[in-house]
Amino acid sequence: MEATISRADRLAALREPRPWDVLIVGGGASGLGAAVDAAARGYRTLLVEARDFAAGTSSCSTKLIHGGVRYLRQGDFALVRNALRERSYLLRNAAHLVHPLAFVIPAWNGVDRIVHAAGLKLYDVLSGGHAMAASHSLSRQEVIAALPGLRRAGLCGGIRYWDGQFDDARLAITLMRTATDLGATCLNYLPLTGLLKTGGRITGARLRDAETGEEFEIAARVVINATGVHADRVRRLDDPAVAPLLTPSQGIHLVVDADFLPGRQALMIPETEDGRVMFAIPWQGKVLLGTTDTPRPELQQLDNPQPLVAEIDFLLRTAAKVLTRPPTRADIRSVFAGLRPLIHPDSTDHRTTAALSREHAVLVSAGGLVTLAGGKWTTYRLMAEHAVARAAEVAGLPAEPCPTRTLKLHGCPADAGSDVYGTDAPLLAALPGHDRPLHPALPYSEAMVRFAIRQEAARTIEDVLARRTRALFLDAAAAATTIERVAEIFAEELGLAPGQVAVMIATAHENARRFMPPSPPAG
Ligand SMILES: Cc1cc2nc3c(=O)[nH]c(=O)nc-3n(C[C@H](O)[C@H](O)[C@H](O)COP(=O)(O)OP(=O)(O)OC[C@H]3O[C@@H](n4cnc5c(N)ncnc54)[C@H](O)[C@@H]3O)c2cc1C
Repeated sequence: MEATISRADRLAALREPRPWDVLIVGGGASGLGAAVDAAARGYRTLLVEARDFAAGTSSCSTKLIHGGVRYLRQGDFALVRNALRERSYLLRNAAHLVHPLAFVIPAWNGVDRIVHAAGLKLYDVLSGGHAMAASHSLSRQEVIAALPGLRRAGLCGGIRYWDGQFDDARLAITLMRTATDLGATCLNYLPLTGLLKTGGRITGARLRDAETGEEFEIAARVVINATGVHADRVRRLDDPAVAPLLTPSQGIHLVVDADFLPGRQALMIPETEDGRVMFAIPWQGKVLLGTTDTPRPELQQLDNPQPLVAEIDFLLRTAAKVLTRPPTRADIRSVFAGLRPLIHPDSTDHRTTAALSREHAVLVSAGGLVTLAGGKWTTYRLMAEHAVARAAEVAGLPAEPCPTRTLKLHGCPADAGSDVYGTDAPLLAALPGHDRPLHPALPYSEAMVRFAIRQEAARTIEDVLARRTRALFLDAAAAATTIERVAEIFAEELGLAPGQVAVMIATAHENARRFMPPSPPAG
């Protein structure tokens, strides 16, 4: 078995008096990407995450590595071009986690068909040398063959185009492992609680171990704030009077069984009643329906946003218009909500976040805090490249070239087609429970739980069921029935006392309810 770096070892590194070159706060796509970049440039790198890696927005995306067809409509060509370039790097450097997926846009009249075909030709052009396959028109019969679950009345044809699909939380864990391979120290359950300053400049940070309450004061040449929708809170630790940068917008997804959209191709509904696009996407043996775009400027509690009834109704209503078998509330296997960390242009009205750009920003405060905000999963590498280059300037670190365009991520196999464990698969196969399924309806083994605890820094049952496996995202009720068994494995692996296990189990049941579909209305 590969050598593991225990939490105790990682915490011990915090007690060394040597300053860190770069401290990154936040373990989502932005922060983990920055940790890989900083470590790959040879900087002594520490990343701290308040909860679990990807516990925020980064596990709740639509799971697409895409240029963003809908951004074409907004004329955001630079964003689309950058994203398409990043898509091609990811297909190569994370071949175990990102794969091509065909999307079909049905057309119910000839004008729509021409408009969509023209838009997608532009998408092909912006792909340049990075195109996956060119888009092309489909006849009515071809659309029906590609999407057997689609309503046929009035259908006149469609367009097929290609984008990337991935497992967001697994990519986050893979980035954490890549950064660790490169020498970074990455710790979950370790929030930043304060910034240390000397003569008005940030020189370090105060951290707290959420498991034990132990406090740490560490020295760092530069601090990167990559806390997603929490970024303004961290910016206020530096300057309490700073104007807000972000305007959170909520997006939810429903997960239903695969037979609502049989086949391997995704459906893009080009225009819903709120003027956005909606997807029905095959993912890990289920279908994802999403998403919404609900401004949530009033949210005080940014952790664990809750789906609104109106959002669930909207997705079910929209799906019912286009699928032969309309899903109902009783068909929902899981529901999850995420908050987009959208940049808030000064004049922006909170009610129109669908029109805001997903572009990112790197800001440096007077005290030297580098904030990386906005963006999307697809462009995490580019965002990290910009943020780390800026951070190195702020810290006066030697300028090093960014090597991540060609850097293979942890576990990346030589050929596509492996599962998400990539080259780690033999390590997994050697663990006890490799042949024992966790649950008959879920594609996970007991060995995966042990692997998550030993190799992937899982600390809670939810870490295992939501972000090392995706059980809670696929079928929340089935996942909840595995909690006691996962707890037993934790007890064996970490030598936990019965009292600790009981608390773990109670917390896991409470957290699992967040993914549970709402009860169907009475009557
Ligand atoms: C509904 C939805 C669908 C999306 N779909 C896609 C898609 O298909 N493709 C795509 O490319 N992008 C997509 N995105 C965008 C993408 O998911 C986000 O841009 C990205 O995940 C944001 O990552 P982040 O690291 O900035 O934020 P987060 O993932 O939220 O990470 C920030 C982290 O900082 C931590 N933190 C906060 N405060 C502290 C502190 N004091 N100390 C330590 N840590 C702290 C939080 O716990 C959190 O884990 C989608 C977004 C949403 C909401």
